[in-house]
Amino acid sequence: MNRIPLIAGNWKMFKTGSEAVSTAEKLANLTQNITSTDIMIAPTHLSLPLVTQKLLGTNVKVGAQNLYFEQEGAFTGEVSAEMIKDTGAEYVLIGHSERRQFFGETDESVFKKIKAATKVDLIPIMCIGESEKERNEKNTFAILDKQVKNGLKDFVSDDPDSLSSLVLAYEPIWAIGTGKTASVDQVDEIHKYLRSLISQLFSRDFALKIRILYGGSVKPDNVKELMAIEDVDGALVGGASLDPDKFIKIIGFSS
Ligand code: PEP
Repeated sequence: MNRIPLIAGNWKMFKTGSEAVSTAEKLANLTQNITSTDIMIAPTHLSLPLVTQKLLGTNVKVGAQNLYFEQEGAFTGEVSAEMIKDTGAEYVLIGHSERRQFFGETDESVFKKIKAATKVDLIPIMCIGESEKERNEKNTFAILDKQVKNGLKDFVSDDPDSLSSLVLAYEPIWAIGTGKTASVDQVDEIHKYLRSLISQLFSRDFALKIRILYGGSVKPDNVKELMAIEDVDGALVGGASLDPDKFIKIIGFSS
């Protein structure tokens, strides 16, 4: 099964609008000849319209870092899936560990957000991962199992087709922004597990189609070994995506 690799950059709460636009422009220039890898960057909500506009017709797609699952209403400070789609963005990160950790994101809200995203044809990148404590207590598989099953619950029985664009991102929390990367064996084990879990929940065909990204301190000097793992279909990159000169090396799998 040929899955097109996806290298996605999460810019978190970095870069003003003008900084985001100039970084995006530089990245677009650097990636002009890249056609075999999908590339995405996720700036802040505020920069989405500016950045999508700047990147029209380039190889770099745009995603949001979050959404709110209601369509509209009295939800001060929130942004709907439709509003994100309207900016020209194509992807949305859902359930990032920083949202789970600091903003009360739960498996239930993740589920609702994925539902809202798929309704307007935004590609959901569903983030899952265990903490260091959970790994040390040998709960990694149980945690991932719970996050996947609860986050995708009704899709399994009701509506698997609407999930066809789903991207999963395995991001062990202990590896995010810490400089610690999961080992090749650890990543291999988890990605295999996740694909077989998706296969059990949906079908083998479905599981073979979806992309599973690894995230957690991906850098130019470790991306090659990570991307060589059979079930790794790309990377979700935080810190190293902020600098186009570094990010382009990751996009080229730093060969
Ligand atoms: C992330 O924010 O999803 C991430 C993986 O961050 P970093 O690459 O900085 O660890």
